[in-house]
Amino acid sequence: MLKIDCPWCGPRAEVEFCCGGESHIQRPEPFDKVTDAEWASYLFYRQNPKGLHFERWVHKHGCRQWFNVARDTVTHEIKSVYLMADPKPDVQKLTPTGKQKETNK
Ligand SMILES: [Zn+2]
Repeated sequence: MLKIDCPWCGPRAEVEFCCGGESHIQRPEPFDKVTDAEWASYLFYRQNPKGLHFERWVHKHGCRQWFNVARDTVTHEIKSVYLMADPKPDVQKLTPTGKQKETNK
């Protein structure tokens, strides 16, 4: 069983959450120029990688908030948990706890 670190509630068991599928799906624009193939791709086609996957999760039996998870689909290791408005994290810079490493400039 996964232990997911909800950004609002802290670590909780997987049974409290539901996965909402792939995250960072962008609606094609402008809408009047979108082809049928582009629209079909947006609606129906999703990544199914063996390895790192960016997913939306909701804390259904908790705070009911949505957030993103970067998870390895082979090991189920959660690399990062981040807010819906945040960009994809650079997983090469992540520490084992899922936090971004501080870089000295
Ligand atoms: Zn929560």
